[in-house]
Amino acid sequence: MEYNFLTKCVHGNGRDASCDGSGAISFPIYQSATFAHKGLGESTGYDYSRLQNPTREQLEKVVASLEHGTDALAFSSGMAAIASLMELFQPGDHIIAVNDLYGGSIRLFDHISKKNGIKFTHEDLSKVSVETLITTETKAVIIETPTNPMMNVIDIQKTAEIAHKHHLLLIVDNTFLSPYFQNPILLGADIVIHSGTKYLGGHNDTLAGFLVAASEEIAERLRFIIKTTGSGLAPMDSWLILRGIKTLGLRMNQAQENALAIVKWLKEEERVCKVFYPGLPENPGYEVCCRQSRGFGCMISFEVESRELAAHILKHVRLIQFAESLGGVESLITYPITQTHADVPKDILAANGITDCVLRLSVGIEDIGDLIKELEGVFESYGRQHGEQEG
Ligand SMILES: *Cc1c(COP(=O)(O)O)cnc(C)c1O
Repeated sequence: MEYNFLTKCVHGNGRDASCDGSGAISFPIYQSATFAHKGLGESTGYDYSRLQNPTREQLEKVVASLEHGTDALAFSSGMAAIASLMELFQPGDHIIAVNDLYGGSIRLFDHISKKNGIKFTHEDLSKVSVETLITTETKAVIIETPTNPMMNVIDIQKTAEIAHKHHLLLIVDNTFLSPYFQNPILLGADIVIHSGTKYLGGHNDTLAGFLVAASEEIAERLRFIIKTTGSGLAPMDSWLILRGIKTLGLRMNQAQENALAIVKWLKEEERVCKVFYPGLPENPGYEVCCRQSRGFGCMISFEVESRELAAHILKHVRLIQFAESLGGVESLITYPITQTHADVPKDILAANGITDCVLRLSVGIEDIGDLIKELEGVFESYGRQHGEQEG
């Protein structure tokens, strides 16, 4: 039987025989590197933790069921997951990637995958059809939606149809919306990526990554890669992510409610020039997002009137902290141009509109009154200083 989402977050799809029979409510942390065999040809199902560990396996089952995959694999970080994913490809293979990808993915592709003979085309796939970019060597399309940090929305179902017509894999990094708001596999994706460090873990305390496979065939290839390269998630960290996932739905609801209130506030602040959020009806991706997602998420990017104001905000926020990362209970603000996107080539930054006036806010689950009061305070203090200079 299949439980509904919130139940699956807490219980997965129920316990299986791998549990120890003690009645422990919290799944045990199997802090063991290796497992004893009873005799020749007899196995408990576990041999060595690089291959599989019961705690990691439980986490993988939960994530696979939340994303409607046949299987999920837990890695030591999101980047470890994406680096392992690249092992599916051969020198000469061509991959089409959305241009506004997570900065670390662009760095991996440009500085490691390219050296290994894989070719990339980066394009704004919210505007350009992927079909015009396909060559005889193309093997996959990699997207994020909404994109980071500009919140462009890409039609997953349409992209999947084109990809499959040309026998390409569609790979979707679903970190931003999490499985609570979006399930790319149900829309045709072949592989889903997560940085488990973000919403799945949810507490800014653990690094983790996932690859979720739609088919048995891809899952098997990925299992071979994880056991051979040894990038699987450790038992203790697997347990922390399992615990984080228990409250995924509750956290996403609260953070999205806060995000909607902050978007409304930013829209009315005259020193804010643009607000990038897929839940705004004027956002070009609004309708597609309504069709393919159950929510708009908790990430907001916005452009302020000057670099000075951006710097002032980063210097004066207290409750909201100036830090990279996202998806935790704590609200964080970052400056993509020098932080998350520091290694992205200048021409790509300019094409995507990532200027020195753009800030990105990951909205947490704090009291919304406190968050708005903090924003009011930093804009007011800038106004006072600015007024003084002019007067
Ligand atoms: C953070 C992030 C990653 C990388 O994950 P790590 O856990 O930091 O290695 C990949 N994709 C997206 C969208 C991210 O936000």
